Amino acid sequence: MTAQIIDGNALSRQVRADVATRAASLTARGITPGLAVILVGENPASQVYVRNKVKACADAGLHSVLERYDADLSEAALLDRIAALNADPAIHGILVQLPLPRHIDDHKVIEAISPAKDVDGFHIASAGALMVGEVGFKACTPYGCMKMLESIGMANLRGKHAVVIGRSNIVGKPMAMMLLAANATVTVCHSGTADLGVFTRQADIVVAAVGKRNVLTADMVKPGAVVIDVGMNRNDEGKLCGDVDYAGVSTVAGWITPVPGGVGPMTITMLLVNTLEAAERLLPA
Ligand code: NAP
Repeated sequence: MTAQIIDGNALSRQVRADVATRAASLTARGITPGLAVILVGENPASQVYVRNKVKACADAGLHSVLERYDADLSEAALLDRIAALNADPAIHGILVQLPLPRHIDDHKVIEAISPAKDVDGFHIASAGALMVGEVGFKACTPYGCMKMLESIGMANLRGKHAVVIGRSNIVGKPMAMMLLAANATVTVCHSGTADLGVFTRQADIVVAAVGKRNVLTADMVKPGAVVIDVGMNRNDEGKLCGDVDYAGVSTVAGWITPVPGGVGPMTITMLLVNTLEAAERLLPA
């Protein structure tokens, strides 16, 4: 079997076109959705990420501001800035690019963002809303994975077994909650899982969110399964690759996401969706 590709770039274009249409209609009603992105320090990867996020906003007709601060910005000054953005009516979403310099407590900073503007979905209120099925903001990377499943007709996962490899607060755990909400039976594996293959071979859907190359190989995948690769690693030639042995797994899986061009673009796309929705929620019911 040769797996069909779930093309994150193509799906992103479709979703972003819809965001642009809805943003234009909101703007016509006097509300331009606005995102504030805060970058502290000079982390080169973070600089690329924030540039891409700001550009994606501009392309979709969203207002965005990028605030850059030196690495020695104090935690108190950052918290003051977040308080000001919480009160700014032109800003509907606030994103603080992680990682922050070591002297700043990530958790304190994320919790300072108003839950109504938490478009990254990392606030405890967003995680809690996801847990109990209330309206909040979904973390962008797993939300993008769910959109990818929806795009191949897998919105309702009743009767399906999904295995998530990884249990971080920003990917693995919210991914598991979203799959559960879509009625899948969910298994979460991690570094303490004794034999990963025992679980992945039973799965109709495998989501790999580990950060290590070749965590998932062809012998670990059920024929026809859907494989979603969240990982971002570098191979021996320095090229971007995922957690999945793409060449091998493609011969067994039914569907697969590539790296690059898979989950990565969808993550930014869902940030746009969350920012738009933050603004739409201000409209009278
Ligand atoms: P993380 O916080 O380091 O979590 C990694 C998870 O993998 C942990 O739960 C860990 O288990 C588990 N793990 C480690 N080795 C394992 C093994 N051999 N077998 C099974 N599980 C193992 O990473 P993260 O932030 O979730 O990110 C994961 C990957 O996704 C990274 O490559 C990251 O760059 C990428 N990512 C991509 C996007 C995107 O937009 N494409 C967004 C976010 C993250 P323990 O909990 O037991 O330690």
